[in-house]
Amino acid sequence: MFSLDGKKALIVGVANDQSIAYGCAAAMRAQGADLAITYLNDTAEKWVRPLAEELGAEIIEPLDVSHPDQEAALFDVIRETWGQIDILVHSIAFCPKQDLHGRVIDCSAQGFELAMDISVHSFLRLIRLAEPMMQHGGTCLTVSFYGSEEVVEDYNIMGPVKSALESVTRYAAAELGDKRISVNALSPGPLATRAASGIAHFDAMLAAAAKRAPTHQLTRTEEIGAYAAFLASDAARNITGAVVKIDGGYSIMG
Ligand code: NAD
Repeated sequence: MFSLDGKKALIVGVANDQSIAYGCAAAMRAQGADLAITYLNDTAEKWVRPLAEELGAEIIEPLDVSHPDQEAALFDVIRETWGQIDILVHSIAFCPKQDLHGRVIDCSAQGFELAMDISVHSFLRLIRLAEPMMQHGGTCLTVSFYGSEEVVEDYNIMGPVKSALESVTRYAAAELGDKRISVNALSPGPLATRAASGIAHFDAMLAAAAKRAPTHQLTRTEEIGAYAAFLASDAARNITGAVVKIDGGYSIMG
């Protein structure tokens, strides 16, 4: 149906094999894409490097988006190694715990700024760096959550952060459409990952999601990866600015 043969994919956000980014990397590799995979820091490298090597990643580099020099260095390596990039997967988020666990009203200015910078503005920065290397078009993907649209208990300040992420997805899609670069957000239902474990009462959120979704199934990383791989393919070239739900219908229920 579709192939990613010869496409070069940069995957940001693998922490372990439960990561949504890992599901995307594995699915894209299975469809023939060549991979560049980043790890946050030395501690993360121990977990990420073996996974990246298993997937045959051609580039394995550090990237902490709070260090702009690392973003530039990563793209220098990609430019020298590949000279082009076709797919960007941005699957990262961060919020200081005390802001994440408090009321939205009480979020500190520093916590708000950090959460927006790492979870939203970094997507724009990575797109900006990828753009000159997407000469023949490309696909940029990020990962959002339904708490952007409705108030989800305990999701707190990440709700407004994801609203901003979805909005920048639409604006970037509008700005890059004539270069045949699509920008979309994947919106899975809740699933147990390391980032998710930082949300208070996350087990209850998982149980509620399985109960509420018409399929009564939690989303799996493989399902997110399959959708991401499709969106990265030429078959999906006219899909842009979308926030696609992969949530067993969770979000349609009142
Ligand atoms: P995860 O913990 O596997 O991935 C989060 C990644 O963010 C990690 O790899 C971490 O290293 C990276 N990260 C954090 N700060 C960073 C920084 N400064 N620089 C570079 N990378 C940084 O968890 P996940 O659930 O796979 O999260 C991926 C994305 O999916 C996030 O945007 C999250 O909000 C979103 N999401 C998760 C769920 C869920 O229920 N797990 C649902 C919807 C959306």
